[in-house]
Amino acid sequence: MSDLILFWHRRDLRISDNIGLAAARDRTQKVVGVFCLDPNILQRDDVAPARVTYMIGCLQSLQKRYTEAGSQLLIVNAEPQKGIPALATALNVSAVFWNLDVEPYAKERDRAVQKALQTAGIAFQNFWDQLLHRPDDIRTGAGDPYTVYTPFWRNWSSKPKAEPVDELAKAEGLTESEQKAVVKAGAIELPTAKDLGFVWDNALLLEPGEAAAQERLEAFCDRAIADYQEQRNFPFNPEGTSHLSAALKFGAIGVRTVWAKTAEAVEQTRSDEAQDGIRVWRQELAWREFYQHVMYFFPQLADGAYRKPFQNFPWDNNPEHFQAWCEGKTGYPIVDAAMRQLNELGWMHNRCRMIVASFLTKDLIIDWRWGEKYFMQKLFDGDLSANNGGWQWSASSGMDPKPLRIFNPASQTKKFDSEAEYIRQWLPELRSIDTEALVTGDILPLERDRCGYPAPIIDHNQQQKRFKAIYQQQKEK
Ligand SMILES: Cc1cc2nc3c(=O)[nH]c(=O)nc-3n(C[C@H](O)[C@H](O)[C@H](O)COP(=O)(O)OP(=O)(O)OC[C@H]3O[C@@H](n4cnc5c(N)ncnc54)[C@H](O)[C@@H]3O)c2cc1C
Repeated sequence: MSDLILFWHRRDLRISDNIGLAAARDRTQKVVGVFCLDPNILQRDDVAPARVTYMIGCLQSLQKRYTEAGSQLLIVNAEPQKGIPALATALNVSAVFWNLDVEPYAKERDRAVQKALQTAGIAFQNFWDQLLHRPDDIRTGAGDPYTVYTPFWRNWSSKPKAEPVDELAKAEGLTESEQKAVVKAGAIELPTAKDLGFVWDNALLLEPGEAAAQERLEAFCDRAIADYQEQRNFPFNPEGTSHLSAALKFGAIGVRTVWAKTAEAVEQTRSDEAQDGIRVWRQELAWREFYQHVMYFFPQLADGAYRKPFQNFPWDNNPEHFQAWCEGKTGYPIVDAAMRQLNELGWMHNRCRMIVASFLTKDLIIDWRWGEKYFMQKLFDGDLSANNGGWQWSASSGMDPKPLRIFNPASQTKKFDSEAEYIRQWLPELRSIDTEALVTGDILPLERDRCGYPAPIIDHNQQQKRFKAIYQQQKEK
């Protein structure tokens, strides 16, 4: 057996602040990375071309980082339960290391890989890396998992946070004969997203890779985090939020590094407003962890509603309405602007994610799972736990105790896009319409015709009454 450790990367596409990788390097000089292009994920019908493009970009950057450190990142195009043991056997490794994940598929896949490695007599070791606190570390007084965010946040924020771990600065790679062996065992050149059939020609909101994520984190914490509480809800402001979601999803940046940077920001500021900004941003990091913890403990969330009234809910599910929503043609300017942003950028501002999700579920009375899937087909930061959590929150079908949240598109626009700048940015056909009409949505039929903009496909007031009545019936059942 060689002293080589194979480190399997999944959603930790970096060599800095990576717990499992640092543990491997502590054990041996010789550490080689591997990533599996898993057909069980890539062949699903909810994979966004923007997301694969970002991921492949991160892998390119990771390969470079490994080469600079003296080692390499191998790529395998196979199911992990076949690809990982085949490579590990060919290299006669001392162990395979990886970081754990919370998603139901990931847990099942990991069990299958463990079993295959055991059968082949290969050792393995797992670590928690993508969260500041592992699911088992944050429990209620009675020892149960939390199902409500606020007490979760209190507990989670009171616990000390780990420091970032050292990056893989230097490692030994494969010998020539080992190199030949891995090719025989299925290692391939890294394909492009297009080679894999995913075409995304628009720019990405964040450049892939560790350096870009680190730069973005620094720029955000140096300039914008202090105003976060005040600015985060205005979708026209490109500086209002961090745009780090895809980097956090794929682990282009370590969450401990992110936290340490917020701690630095806390140290450097004296104003109460700035401290509030940092606290509120940290609360968003806690939402990310809350949704991952609940996905870990309640995997059934991935399949359907948590709350009873929403199980077997009689949704309208009108396919024409759904199509209009997807294309940004509902006749409600704020909803349409947001959907066009999603379609063009592969990202949507959080405020608008809540508005369009409320509109789909409460106004169009369409099953939230249709929206959840459409988001996954488009988002470059698409993540099962955060997306499912956001959709179940918006549909009121999730864990949050508040029964019903119905967003009024006009009031939301008045509060968060009062000059209709965001609407004009994403609906250029409406640029000549006056601000008041764009904000209220009361655009004259003649004007709509002139601009080629559709009439509202439903009436918000009527539909919210209908929704409430259906919900009441469901509750009484
Ligand atoms: C219906 C709906 C679907 C969503 N789908 C996703 C998704 O697929 N992937 C995703 O990462 N986020 C999702 N979110 C949460 C949120 O909209 C995005 O994380 C955020 O808009 C990303 O932009 P940012 O990085 O600039 O966020 P910032 O405001 O800078 O927040 C910092 C980080 O905190 C995390 N975060 C922020 N808000 C949330 C939240 N509500 N839930 C979980 N994590 C959060 C993200 O990792 C984010 O990058 C969804 C929200 C809703 C309402």
